[in-house]
Amino acid sequence: MEREEKFTELLRINVDQNCLHQCQSCYKYFDCPDPYKYSIYQQGRMDIIKGKMKGIRYKLAVLSGKGGVGKSTVSANLAMALVQRGQKTGIIDSDFHGPSIPKILGLQGKKLMIGKEGILPVPGPLGIKVVSTGFLMDDNESLTWFDEFKRGALEEFLASVQFGPLDYLVLDLPPGTGAETLNMMKYIPDLTGVIVVTIPSELSQGVARRGVTICQKAKVPIIGIIENMSGFVCPDCGKKANIFQTGGGENLAQAMGVPFLGCIPLDERISQTADNGTPFILQYPDSVSAKTFHSIIEKII
Ligand code: ADP
Repeated sequence: MEREEKFTELLRINVDQNCLHQCQSCYKYFDCPDPYKYSIYQQGRMDIIKGKMKGIRYKLAVLSGKGGVGKSTVSANLAMALVQRGQKTGIIDSDFHGPSIPKILGLQGKKLMIGKEGILPVPGPLGIKVVSTGFLMDDNESLTWFDEFKRGALEEFLASVQFGPLDYLVLDLPPGTGAETLNMMKYIPDLTGVIVVTIPSELSQGVARRGVTICQKAKVPIIGIIENMSGFVCPDCGKKANIFQTGGGENLAQAMGVPFLGCIPLDERISQTADNGTPFILQYPDSVSAKTFHSIIEKII
């Protein structure tokens, strides 16, 4: 007998042939491979998530077509701008392959703890509540995130983390329009909206466009587009260089019929503060970029 058939046979032994699907009280609950039980389990999970999400007034997802365009930087700084306005805010870093929120917020090395009623988010600057896959692994550890793992981890973050009542939850999504983006839409049907981050180049716009399209197809509201790394002003001579072109974010917003939220320039202090773990917006409140983050959050609010 083939190994796979043997395995299936073994699994079948565990299913009670006279099963009347009273799964919740069944002593074989955890061993049962019956798909019916799994669907009950899933439904239960979805109900828990929906209940949890009701305790959060606004749920914002941050999406980008490509990696490295500043999606996590934008998520972290917008979330901090909300906290600075006295809004109780949480952030979920679900960028499984490159979780950078712990580093940006100075929380590297912290771990998620289990409390009486579930997972406790890590408290960050000014009391922001942070959850990240980065808190599950050591820096030099690597994990192959198969789709099932990613779905399970997102489900766990949404169902089991004890955020308590929040005004805002910011979700830093992985780049692209993969399964994670769709899972998030499924789990949070009352998502307030999506913020799309792009850099000005046509290359980035092209993939950001797919992100906008997928939201429009799924009827998820798009709050707007942010153009990051938009021009660089030389601190010595004051001359502006449009390293990644200019106007791409605004053009995309116009073409797709969605609001344009603003341009964040290239600023070496943004990457320095991220590497040092001090939120940029707190460290340089008077900079053009920090002011732009604030004006964007005003629009979003
Ligand atoms: P993503 O989440 O899209 O992968 P990150 O937010 O991790 O991108 O940003 C990638 C790198 O670019 C980081 O080192 C970050 O500090 C830097 N960065 C992001 N936005 C800017 C900016 N406006 N100016 C300078 N550096 C930036």
